[in-house]
Amino acid sequence: MNRKYTKQVAIGNIYIGGNDKILIQSMCNVKTSNYREIIHQINKCAKLGADLMRVSVLDEDDLNAIKKIKQNIDVPLVCDIHFNFKFAIESIYNGADAIRINPGNTSKSKLLDLINVAKAHNTAIRIGINQGSFKSKDNDITNELVDETLKWINYFEENDFSNLVLSIKSSNVLTTISSNKLLSNKTNYPIHIGLTESGFDDIGIIRSVAALSPLLLEGIGSTIRISLTGDPYLEILTAKRLLHDLNLYNDYHTLISCPTCGRCNSSNLKKIAAKVDYFLEKNKINKKVAVMGCEVNGIGEGKNADIGIAGGKNYFFLFKKGKIIDKGSEEEMVKELFEELQKTNDENQ
Ligand code: SF4
Repeated sequence: MNRKYTKQVAIGNIYIGGNDKILIQSMCNVKTSNYREIIHQINKCAKLGADLMRVSVLDEDDLNAIKKIKQNIDVPLVCDIHFNFKFAIESIYNGADAIRINPGNTSKSKLLDLINVAKAHNTAIRIGINQGSFKSKDNDITNELVDETLKWINYFEENDFSNLVLSIKSSNVLTTISSNKLLSNKTNYPIHIGLTESGFDDIGIIRSVAALSPLLLEGIGSTIRISLTGDPYLEILTAKRLLHDLNLYNDYHTLISCPTCGRCNSSNLKKIAAKVDYFLEKNKINKKVAVMGCEVNGIGEGKNADIGIAGGKNYFFLFKKGKIIDKGSEEEMVKELFEELQKTNDENQ
């Protein structure tokens, strides 16, 4: 798949853009002054695959926490500021690797102060334009969102600042697609893509995937966030899964499990599939694994997998690339599957 080549922007020790890999990010969901919990969330997200993390800075207590947080994390930290741009400047002094603002939320003179400090510290700024800050009640305000973003790009460039990442956020799937496509046509800055206020669990995941897949398939998006109501961990796993399924993230496992039907020989198949997925995630085993309900169709349908198990009338079967290598009870075959996976993992290390 061709990825759009964009300008490359440094954020801490990583780059966003170019046509390098798409970076995964999320946002902490507790107050930043609660730095112990923030550090825990950031490090857990980083372990799950986050490349950078964002926190909101609302007051002096949040500002003071930035230094402590920075000392205890390894991924770049983006500070999100609304309205009070003094906090944006102070966040840079305290070690923020990038700032996310909506530039229209302050006066031009305060914005200029921020630009000058960001320039002096080589700190990137994300221009974040949200549909929520527009008065129009129309569902589709694609042109307004893009024009607003372009207006601010011009302003930053006139002030000799081009260390920019862009984002246009809407809770509407179609507006998200059309505005990011249009923006990508008109600029060469890296774009952070995501659908805002998408909802929780399956609701938010489906809506986000519907909005982001068409963009990713056209090579648009240098960073991605799946915004879900709740803690940030599912956001990271969902982003990784989406990118992997679109061939944009190699280092990840694939779990295939059949939908089950009247031929299924196990009442446990969903539980087994979840257990296998957890095992692959936890041990970072990047294999394609099948969990199938019957041997009649399951082994054939799972033949593209590196390894798998399928239920039979009297036995469960363990197979590799569609060939049966062992049979036994359900419990025995699940155990053997894990042993085989662990073995290949050890061999690769
Ligand atoms: S693999 Fe077997 S049990 Fe699973 S859906 Fe196909 S036919 Fe049904």
